[in-house]
Amino acid sequence: MLNRNSVFVLDTNKNPCDPIHPGKARKLLSQNKAAVFRQYPFTIILKEVSKPTKKYRIKIDPGAKFTGLALLSKANIVWCAELEHRGFQITEALTKRRTLRTTRRNRKTRYRKARFLNRKRPKGWLPPSLMSRVFNIESWVKKLCRLAPVSAISMELVRFDTQKMVNPEISGTEYQQGELMGYEVRQYLLEKFNRTCVYCGAKEVPFNLDHFHPKSKGGSNRVSNLVLSCVPCNQNKDNQLPADFLSDKPKLLALIENQRKKPLADTAAVNTTRWKLKEVLESSGLPVEVGSGRLTKYNRKRLGISKSHWSDAACVGVSTPNTLNIQNYQPLLIKAMGHGSRQMVKPDKYGFPRTSPKLRQKSFYGFQTGDIVKAVVTKGKKIGTYVGRVAVRKTGSFNIKTKTETVQGISHKYCKHLHKSDGYTYSFGELVKQKTVNFVQKVGQVLDTPVQLSLFDISELTTETKSQTKRGQHTKKFDGLDGEQLSLF
Ligand SMILES: [Zn+2]
Repeated sequence: MLNRNSVFVLDTNKNPCDPIHPGKARKLLSQNKAAVFRQYPFTIILKEVSKPTKKYRIKIDPGAKFTGLALLSKANIVWCAELEHRGFQITEALTKRRTLRTTRRNRKTRYRKARFLNRKRPKGWLPPSLMSRVFNIESWVKKLCRLAPVSAISMELVRFDTQKMVNPEISGTEYQQGELMGYEVRQYLLEKFNRTCVYCGAKEVPFNLDHFHPKSKGGSNRVSNLVLSCVPCNQNKDNQLPADFLSDKPKLLALIENQRKKPLADTAAVNTTRWKLKEVLESSGLPVEVGSGRLTKYNRKRLGISKSHWSDAACVGVSTPNTLNIQNYQPLLIKAMGHGSRQMVKPDKYGFPRTSPKLRQKSFYGFQTGDIVKAVVTKGKKIGTYVGRVAVRKTGSFNIKTKTETVQGISHKYCKHLHKSDGYTYSFGELVKQKTVNFVQKVGQVLDTPVQLSLFDISELTTETKSQTKRGQHTKKFDGLDGEQLSLF
């Protein structure tokens, strides 16, 4: 079997039990003590009553295109997957429909008053493309809850924890006191100003954090007063007021003023989907823990794990253990495919019907488009075994999309169901061979390596924050000269 993820186990009453090693599952199946319940994710059903012994936590890293999913039991990654969304496809389809309807309205009802603004949206409405992501994740969380004894959920809620930056004193845990806070601010500014010097537009150069209104002239330490500047510009500006420094460029001054004041509302807008997801997950009744994106990255670096969607998911939140056991895991790649189209006729580029109307019937000879089948062809030109997603035809001559190619014209007689269509298609990712890393021993080394430093140089801020903590001053976030000389790289 290719899949090295754990196998889900249900007892005879369909109650979830502890997931087990695939070898153990194979043994149970060959001894006839269990039967296959589901192919994706692979689940077996026992022929006796059993009880779970451990508790599990689902961890989610929601993204625009991919969402990482990981199931953890203490420090062990039990199961992991990457879920590919179809948000952009939905946007495209809706745009296409809208333009089609607009042109039709113009052709057919050109004297009628426009009345497309007489609609109301319910409270908390989000566009279908965003809701599709939320629903995808929700359905997978529910699925996992049916297959494993899940007791808690963690999700990444925001990319930057804005509260920590504005008011670091309110923190409760050690992460928020020290390097993470400075790290959070730096990453935030880099992304906010798109890794570009605000004064000259230079890219890919070492950057300084510049106090826009110099501190010597009453500028604050708030993030809204910090801008990204290349070293020469920062030195030229020195402790001049922005109006003096940019006296010959009033347009640029207005632009920077506008950009630097925007911050918090913008990130909030980006995160709407995640807030909606949080709401949906909380309605499941399980405790939901939330973490920031920076905390995820920080955890991942600490643990020395390479970046992927599922490994990010495993590092979400404060609950992340000090060690993570990743042994030969192969993530399940899940791709959302939808449940077909409602369009009865496909038009050509001029809008004329290109095909005859679609049949109302969806299933032929017991198969439906989207089922995963295994076909063993014994006669004719296409002798061989094919496994993949099937596209059905009324004639009974099907197409099978295997890993490498699409095989056309396979008779339904050769096909056997592996998995009935559920709106997703499945494959397996690369096998991950990563040894267990002990955080307590490793963190010193990790933070000292040059690669790490180029990613986030936290040395200056760490020492500062520490010395401030010693002195008991929490009010200042950055020390340093006027014009701020904290180098980022
Ligand atoms: Zn510059």
